[in-house]
Amino acid sequence: MLMKILGQNIRFGKSLSERDEKVIWHPLTQHKTAAPLKAIKKAKGVWLEDEDGKQYIDAISSWYTSMYGHCNSKIRKAVSKQMEKLDQVVFSGFTHEPAVELAEKLLEILPQNQAKLFFNDNGSTATEIGIKMALQYHHNQGHKRHVMLALEEGFHGDTFGAMSVSGLSVYNGAFEKHFIEVIRLPKPVGYNNDEVINLLQQWIETYEIAGFIYEPLVQGAAGMKTYSKAGLEDILKLCKLNDIICIADEVMTGFGKTGKTFASQYMQTSPDVICLSKALSAGMVPMGITSCSQKIYDAFYDDELSKGLFHGHTYTGNPLACAAALASIKLLQSEEIQQQIKNIMSWHQSFAIQLKQHPKIAEVRQIGMILAFDLSVKMERYGSLRNELYDYFMQKGIFLRPLGNTIYILTPFVIKKEEMQQVYDSILSCVEEVI
Ligand SMILES: *Cc1c(COP(=O)(O)O)cnc(C)c1O
Repeated sequence: MLMKILGQNIRFGKSLSERDEKVIWHPLTQHKTAAPLKAIKKAKGVWLEDEDGKQYIDAISSWYTSMYGHCNSKIRKAVSKQMEKLDQVVFSGFTHEPAVELAEKLLEILPQNQAKLFFNDNGSTATEIGIKMALQYHHNQGHKRHVMLALEEGFHGDTFGAMSVSGLSVYNGAFEKHFIEVIRLPKPVGYNNDEVINLLQQWIETYEIAGFIYEPLVQGAAGMKTYSKAGLEDILKLCKLNDIICIADEVMTGFGKTGKTFASQYMQTSPDVICLSKALSAGMVPMGITSCSQKIYDAFYDDELSKGLFHGHTYTGNPLACAAALASIKLLQSEEIQQQIKNIMSWHQSFAIQLKQHPKIAEVRQIGMILAFDLSVKMERYGSLRNELYDYFMQKGIFLRPLGNTIYILTPFVIKKEEMQQVYDSILSCVEEVI
């Protein structure tokens, strides 16, 4: 009884952060130099609450997953209803309604050339499978193509294939010897478009290129870096002409974030393969999906067993994840969310004008719901800047994860105007007080 009244902290004499330090190894963390990690106790809508009761606006939607707000009641209800019916079943040998329904629904909203869906667990596996599809597509037809083409600074995940094609692999030294062969094309940014396409033409004659993987129009982990639509269009056309499988990694850009349902819908040339995760299941349950065109599927469809795609994860097609994804897509298509996307885009447009006039701010870029800019600071400050910025925003009750000198906002669709204003105000005051 006494313990119940006094609560967890008293019972164990320690905070969650302290208990965590004893037993947990966190992702992307050097524990020797990292500050103790804050414990989040609950979340609702755009708000996160830590164990001391302090609240934060989740201005990056927990890595662009919780786009409909945390603990969204509609998604929660759909998952909970599914839980009473079918929780999990082997997806190799069985199928089930939530998966079939989700596949049908996704094919309605994906670019029209997409024909088949391959279920998996997360963004890295979604791209890993995309890479395997490209390599085996050629292998099955007896082509000797083994090289992957990627864009400089791209990020596609942390499994081996995904890590190989990622250009941001500064911490991957221990694994580099085991990478698949990759050539990295500079991003077309307008003035260099012709150079990039000429280089690609040369490479096509030199290398046995199987596939091209890219984040369409904006590279997330690189710092929300946008690049030339016309340049990408030319690359895709040239790849298609040479039977290089085009793999759009829409793990970050998918589901409304760029102002269209998928960033690939800004392009005339549709990719052969599309990788999905993150907002797919709205932060409720993990899930990844790799979709492909009929052409890809047909290259695996054979009397010979070994021509199939022998890749599978135990939780593939998990019914609860499917239910979460279905409920999310329904929300995305609702008038309310569509209106919110328009609202946020217009708020960002006005704020971007203000940012562009600021002497300490450079490279303001916006695509749909994504707003990013760089701080003009001396190189010497780069090392400590990220943590200074992070701490400043957290103290103001705003959860942002600056990348080097880049600050980006990608809030849940459901954010209210006054909450967005709090995010904007914290950015303006940060630039004054920290820079
Ligand atoms: C996050 C991300 C991934 C990796 O997804 P995980 O679920 O973290 O493995 C891959 N590609 C892009 C573009 C991403 O943003």
